[in-house]
Amino acid sequence: MTRETPAPLIDPFGRAVKYLRVSVTDRCDLRCVYCMAEDMSFLPKAEVLTLEELDRLCSAFVRLGTRKLRLTGGEPLVRRDVMQLIRRLGRHVKADDLDELTLTTNGTMLFKHAAGLFDAGVRRINVSLDTLDPHKFQAITRWGKLDKILGGIQAAKEAGLAVKINCVALKGVNDDEIHRMVAWCGHEGFDLTFIEVMPMGDIGEGARYDQYWPLTHLRAELETRWTLEDSDHRTGGPARYVRVRETGQRVGFITPLTHNFCESCNRVRLTCTGTLYMCLGQEDAADLRAPLRMSDDDGHLIDAVRAAIARKPKGHDFIINRQTNGPAVSRHMSVTGG
Ligand code: SAM
Ligand code: SF4
Repeated sequence: MTRETPAPLIDPFGRAVKYLRVSVTDRCDLRCVYCMAEDMSFLPKAEVLTLEELDRLCSAFVRLGTRKLRLTGGEPLVRRDVMQLIRRLGRHVKADDLDELTLTTNGTMLFKHAAGLFDAGVRRINVSLDTLDPHKFQAITRWGKLDKILGGIQAAKEAGLAVKINCVALKGVNDDEIHRMVAWCGHEGFDLTFIEVMPMGDIGEGARYDQYWPLTHLRAELETRWTLEDSDHRTGGPARYVRVRETGQRVGFITPLTHNFCESCNRVRLTCTGTLYMCLGQEDAADLRAPLRMSDDDGHLIDAVRAAIARKPKGHDFIINRQTNGPAVSRHMSVTGG
């Protein structure tokens, strides 16, 4: 008997939801200053979905028309046995039910997993790297060692994975390094995305406003040294891309605070406890864990997903200024995965 293909997920504003980002753990082996406090408290393990449950949830989204799946965290590669989940999800790529299975990682475990990722069907990964200076790297990540990350990135390259570097722009921290990042990525054949720091979660120290460096300023600085050619490359997400003529690589800008990208939003985010966020910048969420556990049949789950998508809001509302220096959204990026 062939199973009926369910109707795709379309939100009230006519946007098809085809991209699911899944935070497989809120835990991390680094403590980046803009992301977490050093003494972060994490979710009790009992609340976290098992790998089998994550697979069932992701697979239900694939049945509902999801074409792209991104695993993130916390640090996805520190979750025990996560490669089992990645291999299982890879079956959807191999069956052509999914265009892309990918992940965002801090790179600490790539030396170990790069080849396994490729075997599972992953072809591209995003690696977060804000600086090429070992001392700054340690200052930003608190616990990280740059050498290990660079080794992992080379392992990824050798395994055949395309690498995109994510770099959070931090005023007074890495603003003197952006030309070096563009040159290095150009030399290595990596695309590069700069990200504006976002007001999410209490990070325990320093004022967020002091770290905020608008990408309009960053882009103007890049243009003093590089020829940036407009590119029509779009991912349906917040990044806008240019091509650097001198290197041939793309540079993207994620500017949630200065540019409204919501009209083309095709994504939703799932946490490791089974909570679905329909918008990164809003508090509204739907619990999928209860319907998932209600029965082995996916009926309740699919109803809950549809009800959630029917509530996807039109857009978000981030603001950083001196009056509202606290987080606009109280959860950390490591909960929903960025
Ligand atoms: N641990 C993995 C990593 O670092 O790539 C995946 C999770 S991390 C939360 C995903 C991305 O969010 C990273 O590129 C990180 O730099 C970015 N990020 C974290 N906190 C942020 C913030 N407050 N504003 C902007 N980007 C942030
Ligand atoms: Fe961990 Fe990624 Fe957050 Fe850094 S940005 S603390 S690596 S989750």
